[in-house]
Amino acid sequence: MKSHNKLTTASGRPFVENENSQSIGPRGPLLLQDYILHEKMAHFNRERIPERVVHAKGSGAFGTFTVTHDITKYTKAKVFSGIGKETKVLLRFSTVGGEKGSADTERDPRGFAIKFYTEDGNWDLVGNNTPVFFIKDPKKFGDFIHTQKRDPYTNMKSPTMMWDYWSLNPESLHQVLILMSDRGTPYGYRHMNGYGSHTFSMINNANERFYVKFHFKTAQGIKNFTNEEAAQMKAHDMDFSQRDLIENIDAGNFPKWNLKIQVMTEAQANSQEYYFNPFDLTKVWPHADFPLIDVGVLELNQNPHNYFQDIEQAAFAPAHIVNGIGYSPDKMLQGRLLSYPDAHRYRLGANYEQIPVNRCPFATNNYQRDGQMRIDGNGGENPNYYPNSFDDMKIDPAYKEPPLEVQSTIADWYDRNCEGENDHYTQPGNLFKIMTPKQQENTVHNIISAMSGIEGPKKSEIINRQLCHWYRVDGRLGAAVADGLGVDVDMLER
Ligand code: NDP
Repeated sequence: MKSHNKLTTASGRPFVENENSQSIGPRGPLLLQDYILHEKMAHFNRERIPERVVHAKGSGAFGTFTVTHDITKYTKAKVFSGIGKETKVLLRFSTVGGEKGSADTERDPRGFAIKFYTEDGNWDLVGNNTPVFFIKDPKKFGDFIHTQKRDPYTNMKSPTMMWDYWSLNPESLHQVLILMSDRGTPYGYRHMNGYGSHTFSMINNANERFYVKFHFKTAQGIKNFTNEEAAQMKAHDMDFSQRDLIENIDAGNFPKWNLKIQVMTEAQANSQEYYFNPFDLTKVWPHADFPLIDVGVLELNQNPHNYFQDIEQAAFAPAHIVNGIGYSPDKMLQGRLLSYPDAHRYRLGANYEQIPVNRCPFATNNYQRDGQMRIDGNGGENPNYYPNSFDDMKIDPAYKEPPLEVQSTIADWYDRNCEGENDHYTQPGNLFKIMTPKQQENTVHNIISAMSGIEGPKKSEIINRQLCHWYRVDGRLGAAVADGLGVDVDMLER
């Protein structure tokens, strides 16, 4: 709220004339000394910050995470320290491939990024509404995202680029199938699940490590648009998800998600006997082998008062963990540990964590100093180097993580000899099999609709290559897509 109702410059000087520029005579020209005019125009020119390269269109709200079940045998993280424990959170949802003004109902994964403001620092869990991802190595990320953005020549989205890339990278199949299912066009943000997606670790008071997956199940129930409904909504309301979220929270209809985890022991992860790599982001951990364990409830109950301040400037990074939560060898996670803070330093500056929505509400203490927009006192007169003889900074060994045992050789690894590593088909096949006949029908319809956009001299090559993958996922799926695209299957090289 405004503290007074006087009109002032940014430096606080009250002024009177906000609409008429100073001019020589009533018809001008204007005077260089009209600083009010300069300030208004110059600040306006600087209103936009770079939009996120991915996840540019987003919505978000504040809320509360409450622990309902004890998981202290797995983690000493304070956020999980006891039943009934409450922690303030910020949750930002987003689409991925579109620009800031794009439609909310596009077929796309949805971002599901949470910031927990815990006493041991801010913990960011930066996931999606899908448990897997298109690629398993971060070296591929830029190439992959280019295919989801605009073609460099036409400056238009290109199904040809997308399917060319996907068909050449069959590890994408699992995520592509989820994207083409009904869940590729969720009915806003309230009716979808969220997943931490990566494998993370938890460390308990005995300094034992466990590997975990995080699942946020919507309490509103899964609800999706069909392909046609999503397209209609795009024409009717580009901001459907933003409107749905803000209106429901304003009306006191607070959305909730139930947090559950899957847990794998370090010994299980290291045994090499399991048929897939537990750190491979293109695979899920089957529930039958790793059952879901209840943890708590996340409720969104407060819309931000200013979108730019709290949502556009929100900066989430999987690197931001807290005591009791750790990383894992997941290669995509390792890549994101670097790329997310790097993106924020570019978009918001080196001191992005001092912007109020990103700031840890509890004390932070280190020897980082200066940089653009340093606004937190900059350490005052305290020493700016370590070690020193003047302050009483203490290193507490209780925060040390247990060592992680690794036995391997350094190389640009892709383990082609590992059967599980190359199995891009079993888990998408399992997914197709658990779909109802109607969900299967919709998925086939959506794939045909999306692949119909492939064009140009490589059209047949790309379609045939992708059809072979669909066949390997499920024979009926491959046949139905081939039929819908009018491809003579006898001509396919399998
Ligand atoms: P389960 O039957 O135990 O679990 C199936 C899971 O699939 C449920 O979590 C369900 O979520 C989810 N699901 C159902 N329909 C869809 C859909 N159209 N798109 C995406 N997810 C859907 O079997 P498994 O654990 O063995 O997994 C079988 C397949 O289910 C996997 O290969 C994977 O594709 C998919 N899946 C698995 C998850 C896991 O962590 N194991 C998580 C999500 C998907 P809900 O309960 O919310 O309906």
